[in-house]
Formats: sequence, structure tokens, C-alpha cells
Amino acid sequence: MLEGLMQRRGLLISSIITHAARHHGGAEIVSRREDGRLERTDYRTVERRARRLAAVLQELGVQPGDRVGTLAMNSDRHLELYYAISGIGAVCHTINPRLSHADIAYIAADAEDGLIFTDPGFLPIIEAVAPALAGMLRAVVVMDGSEPHAILPPGMGLYGYEALLSGAMEVPEWPEFDEHAASALCYTSGTTGRPKGVLFSHRSTVLMAMMMNFADTLGLRATDRVLPIVPMFHVNAWGIPYVAPMAGAALIFPGRQLDPVSLLDLLNGERATVSGGVPTVWLGVLAELRRSGARFETLRRILSGGAAVPRALMAEYAKEGVHIHHAWGMTESSPVATWNAPLASTAGLNPEAALDQQATQGRTVFGVDVRTEREDGTEAPWDGAAQGNLVFRGHWVASAYFRRPDTSVGDDGWFPTGDVGRIDPDGFVVLTDRTKDLIKSGGEWISSIELENIAAGHADVAEAAAIAVPDEKWGERPLLIVVPRPGCQPTEAAMLAFFEGKVPRWSMPDRVVVAEGLPHGATGKVLKTELRRLYAHRHCEPLGEAIQGPR
Ligand code: AMP
Repeated sequence: MLEGLMQRRGLLISSIITHAARHHGGAEIVSRREDGRLERTDYRTVERRARRLAAVLQELGVQPGDRVGTLAMNSDRHLELYYAISGIGAVCHTINPRLSHADIAYIAADAEDGLIFTDPGFLPIIEAVAPALAGMLRAVVVMDGSEPHAILPPGMGLYGYEALLSGAMEVPEWPEFDEHAASALCYTSGTTGRPKGVLFSHRSTVLMAMMMNFADTLGLRATDRVLPIVPMFHVNAWGIPYVAPMAGAALIFPGRQLDPVSLLDLLNGERATVSGGVPTVWLGVLAELRRSGARFETLRRILSGGAAVPRALMAEYAKEGVHIHHAWGMTESSPVATWNAPLASTAGLNPEAALDQQATQGRTVFGVDVRTEREDGTEAPWDGAAQGNLVFRGHWVASAYFRRPDTSVGDDGWFPTGDVGRIDPDGFVVLTDRTKDLIKSGGEWISSIELENIAAGHADVAEAAAIAVPDEKWGERPLLIVVPRPGCQPTEAAMLAFFEGKVPRWSMPDRVVVAEGLPHGATGKVLKTELRRLYAHRHCEPLGEAIQGPR
């Protein structure tokens, strides 16, 4: 082999912010604070502050490869952390504050976070989980300018973000290291048992961000103003904090105010041209638009996914002059694997057919390969009919979960997504089902197994199954079906009361149905597909009614 004579520069995340600071230094970054105020900065300032933050991290003992947790909504400070932590070769571990305290404690312990940076509003969560992290978590940093107060275990430090920054020197330049080094860690709901960590690398992140700037994907321009509603703890806000600075586009961070009124106000007030969020968010914003009679003044494109985007939603947004890009992927694919954009052969479809196609999950992007597999592992044909298990591989697909070598698929292996679908002759993927035992509500996972385990702990319950039922607002909601022990009569109210405090409120079942039995397959497993068929359409029946169960 003859080696090429090109410069060997690693694909490092620091190169993104360096480019943005140098070539788009004045591009604006707007953040809505917890008190509603808007604060403005730019890439030049963020890069310099990230270099100061890098020095702070080193001062606090952070070494390359160490994990640093963040418990924060979208903001310029969270952006600074993304670049400072990864920039010195440490790992930015974004923690989802919506999880139960038990899961947060588990995740922080599994990741071995030595420091956690938190929004002031999440300090009560930190106070609740800190005792479980004593001895590992060295310090907590509160991401604002005030002097923080919190009750933490002895020996655990507590600092204010701005105070630390104001006393720090900048690291003179970003260190160079191997592009395969870990950069960020994000836990995703485990299908069985505890959440599992997906450990992104610099290379995977930079490559995916470049792909996202193709004309047939998000294709940002320096003139765009991008408002990521998808949280920075959801697969790195789908990559937007890397994609926007790469293109020099302005960023608008909504903070905690994610209600439709605040979002619409921010979208219009800050002249956002592009935004991204799960379908539930866009349903809410649309309802507010209709209620108030407002218009999208500058918004032209939305990236949506994380759950199937309803066709009707796309049609309504099209009437408002806004195109919804439908994409599919998962944490394990950083997350983008398919993106919906027309082909030359499909570009001339009539509006109804075009909408049908726009509502599919789209076609595979460069850098990833997707296929449907039959049960025997062979590839199913692209005929738009044959369903199979969706698997993928590529530059930004996980090869294993963090600290779980038993989950390795290797560098060439096909990663099983747990989604089921078909591919049409033009390569458009349609998701039809899910084999993983999870319920996705408003973009957040609920583990059916966790709900079932809790229900099975009730003295009156012999067997329980939780399934996803369609929901107009949330996409899916959990329905729990319980079979009583002989002589017992569990009621819906008693079961719901039993769940109080055991899971966050949003992941409690909406309904509990008492059934005489559950359908089982040959190996004794509960047939969830059968349950979904039997119960999905009964979801709207009045609460409290006991339904005769299938035998
Ligand atoms: P997460 O790892 O939390 O990003 O969740 C990924 C999962 O969400 C996928 O495996 C799918 O089950 C679901 N999902 C993501 N995008 C879509 C989409 N466009 N349509 C339907 N389901 C989706």
C-alpha cells in the first residue's frame, strides 16, 4: 500500500469550536435562563470560556478519560461544558434529570462521575442522590453566577460555575490526541434491567456532525438560527451542538421553559429558522398556534424523530410553511441513521403521495448502513412488504455498551436496533413495530419490565404485563394489565396508588386493567403483540372499568 501524503489531523471535537470561534466568532448564542431572562454570547466567547473551563477541570483533578456529569437543560454553559470536557480528552456524561433518583444515582455511579455540573434548579436532585455517590463524586458545580448552597455529604465540594471561571486562566490551546478517544457518554433505557451507557468518540461525533450538514439532511447555513428543543441529555441534542458551530449557525437555547407558549415566543422572538424536537413538542406548539392565531414568522424547517412523526402533523406544518424532516435512529447511532429527503425518482410525486413518503423514516444516510433481517439473520428484500428486524452499522454506531463487553457487536457487526420495519424499493425505511420491551412517551423511555416488576410486588397480583398503547399527545402511554391472585381483587385505584413514589409520575401507567389471564407463547413468554392487538383500541374506555382479559 502506498501511503497518502495528506496531513493526519485527528477528527477532534475541539476543532469544531475552534473553527466556529475563528470563522464565525460573532455568531450569536442565546440562552433562556431559569428566571426567563435571555442572555447573549457568541462562539468566540464560548470558545475562550471553554478553554478557561478546561483549566478549571484540570485544577479539579479531571484527567483524560475521566467522566464528568452534567445535569442541565440546553444553555450556553452546557455548550461550554460539552467542548471543555471533551476538549481535554475527558468524557461529557449528560444525565437525564427526568429519570428517577434511583436511576440517576445508578447512572452516575456506573459512569463514575468525579464531578457533576448542575443547573441550579436540579440541586434538589443532586442533594437526593449525593449520599449514594459519596466517596466517588468529589464535587458539584452549580451552573450560574450565585453562591451555591446545598446539603451534601462531608468532603463533597460545592462550587459556583462563574466563580470558578472568573478565577481561572485559559488553557493556551486544545490538546491533540487519538480521534478514537471517548468524548461523551449517554445512558439509554435498558430493555432488561438497568440503563446502558453509549460511549461516543471524537471521530464518531465529528463525522456524524459533518453528515448532518449535507444538503439532504439538516444542511445548516451560516445564516440559520437553530433552536434545539431536544435536550442536550438526549443523544447530545441529536448532534445539533456540534452541527451548528461547524456551519457557523446561531444557536438559541430554550432552557427549562419547554411549554408551547414559551417555545413559540422564543421561536418567533429570536427569529429561529430551524428547530428540532420530538413530535409531542410539535403537537403542543401547533395547538398553541391555532389557539392564539399566531404564525411562525421565520421558522422554515424542523427536525423531528425519536418517535414516529404523524403524517397529519407534517401536513399541518406544511400549511404553516414549515417542512418537517423525519429522521430515525437511536442513542446507539448517535442518533441519525435514516433521514427523509426525496430522490430524483420520487421528487415528482403528487402532494398526497409525497406526504406519504415524507412520513416514512427516510433513507439511509452516508456513513451508516441499514438493513432488515429475517429471523435467521439473512437480509430481507427491499420490496416494501417484507418485514424484519432493523439492524445497522457505521462510523457512528456503537460497537458495545460502556463497561459491558458482553454486548459487543464488534467493528463490522450489525447492531440490533430492537425496531422492526420494512424497506421499499427506493430504500425508504418504514418502522412497523418494536421488539424491545419499552414504551416511548413524549420522547422518554418507560421500561415495561420495571412497571411489571413493581406490579408483581403487589400482594393481590399474580402476573402483570405493561404495554404501549397509542396516545395522541404523547405518542405512546403505558397500560398495565394485571391478573389477580386467587381470591384477590386488585383495583385500578389501589394499583395506581401502589406505583406512587416508585417511578416518576410521568412514567406511571395511565390505566390499569384487571384481566383473568394473559396470553402466553410456547416458551411461556407473555405475547405482547397479542396484548397490544387486544388492548390498544380499548384504551379510551372509562377509567376504573375491569376488562375481561384474554385467556
Ligand atoms: P433513543 O435511543 O432514546 O433515541 O430511542 C431510539 C428509539 O426511538 C428507536 O429505536 C425507535 O424505537 C424510536 N424512534 C426513534 N426515531 C423514530 C422515528 N422516526 N419513528 C419511530 N420511532 C422512532
